[in-house]
Amino acid sequence: MVNPVIHAAELRRFESDIVRGPGAEDCAIWTGAIGGDGYPRFGVRRGGGERIMLRGNRYALAAARQGQPLEPWERALHGCDNPVCVRVSAPGDVGLLHLVAGSQRDNMEMMARSGRGGGRTVVRRGDHGVAERRARAVALREAVRHGWDAEAVAVALLGSPEPTLW
Ligand SMILES: [Zn+2]
Repeated sequence: MVNPVIHAAELRRFESDIVRGPGAEDCAIWTGAIGGDGYPRFGVRRGGGERIMLRGNRYALAAARQGQPLEPWERALHGCDNPVCVRVSAPGDVGLLHLVAGSQRDNMEMMARSGRGGGRTVVRRGDHGVAERRARAVALREAVRHGWDAEAVAVALLGSPEPTLW
């Protein structure tokens, strides 16, 4: 749960780690910590306790709810297939969807549509896929280090300079 008043300072810190593209369909790239799985991590300290690392994608979804909690079964799904994107797509948004909340079933449907799993051959799986996802996340963070650089972002999204099968 992210309350816009109670967690205002936390939200400002979260926002300061995001570089948003100027284009209508551009992603918002997370430039903070990236987990071993290639997904954003955001550290918070709540109620005077220990600092805990939250999943940045879930945090972004919760923040967009203005204090309404994210349900445990709700998953953070990416229509843009970019794990470090924290741009939340609102219900009713048209065009490329970014981060949306959905069930495991929605996740399977999105994967099937984008060709990841869902009956098709999974090209990248296991440790190799995770390492590659993390490398791409780090490359994207580097690409926007000095602000949005459309060309650098496009190159980073493609992955390594060698031809790949994204
Ligand atoms: Zn995106």
